[in-house]
Amino acid sequence: MWRGIFVVIIVALGLVPFAPLWAKDDLAAHVLLDVSAAPDAGEFALKSNALLLEWYPKINAILYDPQHPLPYSEIRVVFEPVLILKGAPALAKGNELHVSSEYIKHMPDDFRAMMIHELTHINQHYVFMQMDSGWLVEGIADYVRHKYYEKDIQPTLRLNANGQLTGYTPVDPYFYGLQQAGASLTDRGYLKAYTIASTFLFWLESHKDPQIIHELNVVLSQGKFSNASFPQLTGQTLDELWAEFVAESKKTISAH
Ligand SMILES: [Zn+2]
Repeated sequence: MWRGIFVVIIVALGLVPFAPLWAKDDLAAHVLLDVSAAPDAGEFALKSNALLLEWYPKINAILYDPQHPLPYSEIRVVFEPVLILKGAPALAKGNELHVSSEYIKHMPDDFRAMMIHELTHINQHYVFMQMDSGWLVEGIADYVRHKYYEKDIQPTLRLNANGQLTGYTPVDPYFYGLQQAGASLTDRGYLKAYTIASTFLFWLESHKDPQIIHELNVVLSQGKFSNASFPQLTGQTLDELWAEFVAESKKTISAH
């Protein structure tokens, strides 16, 4: 039923531009933007439309493959002043992205990259709850954001001898916050998720297995992920891999 050209409706603005998206020869998807609760987010909504149409099939190809069916034929983006998860800038739930219009007012530069992270959650479409996978799910979303969209992903962290982040500035708010808190990443630091985990994933891809992201994503999507997935895919345990990554990250800073 999803053949042809689909209409993107800007609910509160009353605009009806046409925006087809061909994910496959016979499959199209569309974006529904809802700014009824936050009419002042209309400009951002329009910017997010093209971004989502471009990246929805792209992320599908990165995580799965270009022939993998898109999980939904419609993505709804709902702009609201404050989200149900208080303080959150955005969240993904099923085929819906909820975006805080108050947040994007104050941090407009972050807006598109943040949407790529949230869109990745829609593409992941993991229907099974899996123990110990939260850090990885967030790490993959930031991996897509930083490797493919922002193109600023690094293969190591900058860690001092105590395993604490060092040399980061407020330009990298997540790293900087952990650095200022003096958090040690030596023991299972990947649990800090987000950019910490995405850096680790990029290191795994560069040093251990070029297909690791795709493989982990498939295992997650099949509901078969556990920490035993790492020795199955790389021959080393998660702790061994993390220890090696930390050792290389400490060398990175001493080399400067
Ligand atoms: Zn996330």
